[in-house]
Amino acid sequence: MASTSTSRPSRGPVASRIASAASNLCSDNQTLIAEIRKSLGIIKGVAVDMEKAQRPDKVKELEKAALELLVSYDDCTRLSEAVQNVGNKYQPSAQFTNFRKLLEDEIAKLKEESPFVPQSSPLYRQFKEAIWNVHHEGQPMPGEEQEDIVMTSTQNNLLNMKCPLTGKPVVDLENPVRCMDCKHIYERIPIMHYIRTKKAQARCPVAGCPKVLLVDRVVCDPLLPVEIDELRAADAPNEPITNVEDFTEIDDD
Ligand SMILES: [Zn+2]
Repeated sequence: MASTSTSRPSRGPVASRIASAASNLCSDNQTLIAEIRKSLGIIKGVAVDMEKAQRPDKVKELEKAALELLVSYDDCTRLSEAVQNVGNKYQPSAQFTNFRKLLEDEIAKLKEESPFVPQSSPLYRQFKEAIWNVHHEGQPMPGEEQEDIVMTSTQNNLLNMKCPLTGKPVVDLENPVRCMDCKHIYERIPIMHYIRTKKAQARCPVAGCPKVLLVDRVVCDPLLPVEIDELRAADAPNEPITNVEDFTEIDDD
């Protein structure tokens, strides 16, 4: 009996090594992707300051930089996906394997399936909205005045706002982790306990989510802390005043 526990069926030593090399490459690349994402957040922050300082020329320049960075961000994301796919599909054969060609084909396929338009990216929309809100908070952005456009949660890219097991807000989690398959977020210790007790039947505890959770697919990916930080930053400046104390019942003696 093999003592190693892997989630995927064994495909022979060479294919397994290629798959794990691909997996390592991807996690290295994730760190880069997270850094680009952080830089996008910084550019957005500076652009907001420039908008406040009435420097539209600078805002335009920063917007251009953000768009360029979004293209790199997309390229990196696709490269990761392609490396992972090639790693997973690879089968040893008698012939020489042209990995470069496999990768290029995979990237081309991914780009064809969903072409990237930086102007349609949610991150770009968030950039534009942050600038717009400097002087027009609460008003619809130009082109979005029609009532039939549903205003989705804007400065937020996370799938769930609370850990389904503990009910804690995602921004307050001590050790947030995310399922790589369904992208739902949980507190680490409770979800690991949940997976271990449910064994093979550990369905994602988010209502309606059909994914089955695997220990090695529920991780703190490098992007998760960045995204949680973005959410905190978005919440901070315009926190609604909801807890206004009611002083009417205070005794005045
Ligand atoms: Zn899920």
